[in-house]
Amino acid sequence: MDVEDQLSGFRDRFILPKGLIYLDGNSLGPMPVSTNARLAQVANEEWATGLIRSWNSAGWMDLPERIGNKIGRLVGAGSGQVICCDSTSINVFKTISAALALNPHRKLILSTVDNFPTDLYIIQGLIQQLGAGHELRLVPADDLASHINEQVAVVTLTHCNYQSGRMYDMEGLTALAHANGVLTMWDLAHSAGAVPVDLDGSGADFAVGCGYKFLNGGPGAPAFLYVAERHQAGVGQPLSGWLGHAQPFEFSSTYKPAPGIHRYITGTAPILSLAALECGVDLMLEADMTRIRAKSLALSDLLIALVAQRCAGHSLQLITPENRGDRSSQVSFRHPDSYAIMQGLIASDVIGDFRAPDILRLGLTPLYTSFMDVWNAVATLGGILDARSWDRPEWKTRKKVT
Ligand SMILES: *Cc1c(COP(=O)(O)O)cnc(C)c1O
Repeated sequence: MDVEDQLSGFRDRFILPKGLIYLDGNSLGPMPVSTNARLAQVANEEWATGLIRSWNSAGWMDLPERIGNKIGRLVGAGSGQVICCDSTSINVFKTISAALALNPHRKLILSTVDNFPTDLYIIQGLIQQLGAGHELRLVPADDLASHINEQVAVVTLTHCNYQSGRMYDMEGLTALAHANGVLTMWDLAHSAGAVPVDLDGSGADFAVGCGYKFLNGGPGAPAFLYVAERHQAGVGQPLSGWLGHAQPFEFSSTYKPAPGIHRYITGTAPILSLAALECGVDLMLEADMTRIRAKSLALSDLLIALVAQRCAGHSLQLITPENRGDRSSQVSFRHPDSYAIMQGLIASDVIGDFRAPDILRLGLTPLYTSFMDVWNAVATLGGILDARSWDRPEWKTRKKVT
């Protein structure tokens, strides 16, 4: 399979320690080779030498929009609808605020109990801040469709669930929402760079996503947000900072939102981080999402099949959909001792991660993961389970980051 792999050439475009099998690119992507050189250039030429002139001469001011448009190409958004800024959490605040303002007579925000916590926490904080009687209703994922009705202002979902790897039907759910006058806000943290997404084609209203996962932008990389063009003029966002102003360098004492997507910018952009993110995004664009998706599914098919064979009898329970159309780019299993098993894997140079309460999560990233890597990872896992070598007291105490 590796011999026929058209993406195998991309592996050398990443800096990865030799011998390491990295199945955690869904949490923190590795460093592209180009990023290393680009960061040195931005630091030494643009910052150290160019100094403040670089805001103009090196095009720093244009980075949020330029990279936003590039990410837009990865998630099916025409230009002028995606901007790169802040963190995913903050962008949830901005987009949900805007959605509520566009649907002012409805008080219900609908999501699932298994949505990523920050999305839910941010919404809880926003509701408190608004003090207008909004309610966040959380329902089981399987019941979602039956709760989309004319009371709901906005439904917000993580397109690819971070635990199970289940992927929602964006187009179908958006159509159902719109038929009920409900707006949609999609979290693409585990979708951008992982699976094909068609925001425009699905009719999505708002979206947010992460730069440091499948986009390989580096730890704490800036996030992005999407606002469909038809909504841009009609609404603002509450974090109305100076760089989202129509004319920031007029230094007017009254806020006037910039036209288009620019009003979603709050303050000064982290240039070093944006420069790093652009290198990761450029690599994804070079690779092509259709080919990435095909290999991702082949890798996850193989992983699922090998674990079923090699680890039979070890009570690993697959929670990722076997149906390809419902599967994102990770495979997850439940096991009562997942944390210790993952510590055992990491000690054997197979890095995945653990998600509470009992999930073993393996991310599949086609640009630098080979079929042989999957084979070797499962062999290692099988060995650890057979020998119960995970059963050590020091591997049962959870670290700060799991
Ligand atoms: C990783 C992740 C986030 C992260 O939010 P930050 O603000 O970058 O910490 C948000 N939502 C989802 C669904 C995620 O998987």
